[in-house]
Amino acid sequence: MDFSSQVCLVTGASRGIGAAIALEFAKHNAQAVIVNYSGSKEKAEAVVAQIEALGSKAVAMQCNVSDKAQCEAMIGEVIKEFGRVDVLVNNAGITRDGLILKMSEEDFDSVIGTNLKGVFNMTQPLSKIMLKQKYGRIVNLASVSGIYGNAGQANYSASKAGVAGFTKAVAKELASRNITCNAVAPGFIATDMTDAMPEGAKEAVVSAVAMKRAGKPEEVAAVVAFLASKEASYITGQIVEVSGGM
Ligand code: NAP
Repeated sequence: MDFSSQVCLVTGASRGIGAAIALEFAKHNAQAVIVNYSGSKEKAEAVVAQIEALGSKAVAMQCNVSDKAQCEAMIGEVIKEFGRVDVLVNNAGITRDGLILKMSEEDFDSVIGTNLKGVFNMTQPLSKIMLKQKYGRIVNLASVSGIYGNAGQANYSASKAGVAGFTKAVAKELASRNITCNAVAPGFIATDMTDAMPEGAKEAVVSAVAMKRAGKPEEVAAVVAFLASKEASYITGQIVEVSGGM
């Protein structure tokens, strides 16, 4: 895989899986990597420094993906600076877990707003740019929770099932223009998101994984990078599970 002369934009790249994806593009010679974040400016800048040390250009850009105007402003900045975007990875995501009987409307709306609407907010303006380029790769972060459902995550499972449907529809709309759209559905990956779970709950999840361990962000990043590469030219509309056989 070679991303030289390619501009890659990763949302939620200050930490966890997004940071690993941003670094993976740099390891494969990306011309430039845009490290989007919401609040963690210092962490995003640390990722930028790591990317620069690998020889790619990088810039940290703050934007709340649930706000369409902010997304459009960020994309405008990127185009002004780099002139194109070859790869979009919609990785930014949050959890606000709770059983359905107790879930607040705010917790439902915020998870849908970031995880699903955020994917729309980024994909719509960037697909216009990719159509003009006649090239693009879109990779979305779905989840096994969106495929199989997970108790305590009605909001999150719904958002990720939505991402899977969005991915398949967009893939069909853009396929004829050399733009692919796929999703990766991770299982249980060791990041801040899963670290917040109680120990007992973590053990229960790991026991359901055939490999009997949590995944590493880099193990997800490798699959995302492949789907984002020129080599994955005949794959679109797919949801690839990276779950250690969960
Ligand atoms: P994480 O460690 O909690 O990191 C989340 C990232 O998203 C951070 O960079 C955060 O930025 C950013 N973010 C959150 N809300 C945002 C917003 N409104 N606008 C822009 N950026 C925002 O999460 P992770 O575990 O790496 O998860 C990454 C993706 O994989 C998510 O979509 C998640 O749902 C999915 N996933 C994860 C797992 C897992 O086991 N970890 C499993 C399945 C799917 P700040 O640092 O600035 O807050």
